[in-house]
Amino acid sequence: MPKIKVVLFGGGPACLIAAYHLSEKYDVHIFEKGKRLGRKFLVAGNGGFNLTNEAQGADLQQVYSNHPKLHKALAEFNTSDTRNWLSKIGVETFVGSSGRVFPKKGIKPADVLKRIIKVLEKKGVQIHLNHNFIGFNNNAKPIVKSNENEIVVEAHHYVFGLGGGSWTKTGSNSLWMSSFQEIEVQTLPFRSSNCGIDVIWDREFQEKFGGTPLKNIAISAYEHSYKGEAVVTGYGLEGNAIYPLVPAIREALTKNERAYITIDFKPNSSIEMLQSKVPEVGIKPKNYAYTFNISKAVQQIAKKGLSKADYLNPHKFAASLKTIVVPINGLRPVEQAISTVGGIAMTEIDEQFGLNNYPQISIIGEMLDWDAPTGGFLLQGCFSTGYVVAQKLNEQSNL
Ligand SMILES: Cc1cc2nc3c(=O)[nH]c(=O)nc-3n(C[C@H](O)[C@H](O)[C@H](O)COP(=O)(O)OP(=O)(O)OC[C@H]3O[C@@H](n4cnc5c(N)ncnc54)[C@H](O)[C@@H]3O)c2cc1C
Repeated sequence: MPKIKVVLFGGGPACLIAAYHLSEKYDVHIFEKGKRLGRKFLVAGNGGFNLTNEAQGADLQQVYSNHPKLHKALAEFNTSDTRNWLSKIGVETFVGSSGRVFPKKGIKPADVLKRIIKVLEKKGVQIHLNHNFIGFNNNAKPIVKSNENEIVVEAHHYVFGLGGGSWTKTGSNSLWMSSFQEIEVQTLPFRSSNCGIDVIWDREFQEKFGGTPLKNIAISAYEHSYKGEAVVTGYGLEGNAIYPLVPAIREALTKNERAYITIDFKPNSSIEMLQSKVPEVGIKPKNYAYTFNISKAVQQIAKKGLSKADYLNPHKFAASLKTIVVPINGLRPVEQAISTVGGIAMTEIDEQFGLNNYPQISIIGEMLDWDAPTGGFLLQGCFSTGYVVAQKLNEQSNL
């Protein structure tokens, strides 16, 4: 008996894992508008390539935005499942610092993508590049455009994983939003997540210290605190100690509240320990960097948060290194963010990511309105949602 056809739109990690798990039972087709699959997946590999994280259970779920459907999916296909799947297709992984999971040494991001594509092709998944989803017809059937031809796509089920709103050069350009609005599916505008923050610092400071890393710091805001690092940029600060605070900062900015972070430049030292470094005869600011073992950039940031009298007082300066308040002017634009929130509202989908009003259509990956920090959690969210949809369809095929 010929297999029933399932069409996936988008060639990112969410659709790739769904295609893999569907391919046993279905005739699977991926329609991707670009010339290549997985372009954002490859960009993710440019820095540290966190394929998932070692967190499990409640520890895993609590890093994501509070959506029971997403939490259920994370329980159904968890971080160990991701690692087992990768291992099965020949991509061994290891757990690195702070629980992040990387491909084993020698396996490059492009190798991981090639491996996935090779396995999909072997399993008979048909990949159609340069096929751009452009909207739905009157019967809510998707239309794709390829070489000036518009084709109404006929299939048993449609899975959409068209991505978030950032890094448009990787293909995820959010143009699909209006098509879903036209069939009355609620969408939320994309907003930046895992992004840098804008700080009003003078030009001279930014030119002099732009690119300076601030290592081994702790940053707190709104009752959250994270250790890690940040880097001074031309616009403010960016880095892994900032990203997890972005949702709370975003909320404050949305409510027009005062937004700020507090930096502890010496998380492993108490105020007393820092003050004990001040010699009895006192010291001048020109000796602060050496005395407190801080960079000139840190000294300048601290200076900006202090009155002149406190800056000149070495004991007050020492104490301030634990609590420098940095006012935030805004978040970096969506285009530059590592990920986005917004997209298809979670209320539009059922527990297995089918659209409430169009059960023949499922939505997966970053196209859905959920949030998570970096550290492998974004890809895990894509893998879990992709798997759950495949599993649902596989169960239906047994009926
Ligand atoms: C700089 C950077 C670093 C990152 N690092 C990490 C990391 O280390 N770990 C981690 O977990 N995550 C990381 N991420 C996030 C991760 O890459 C994304 O969350 C993930 O790729 C989203 O997968 P997706 O399948 O939902 O969408 P995408 O990967 O965006 O794929 C969507 C696909 O749909 C296609 N498409 C869009 N519109 C259409 C259309 N109309 N018709 C047909 N096809 C279309 C696009 O061309 C694209 O191929 C990083 C992201 C960035 C930008």
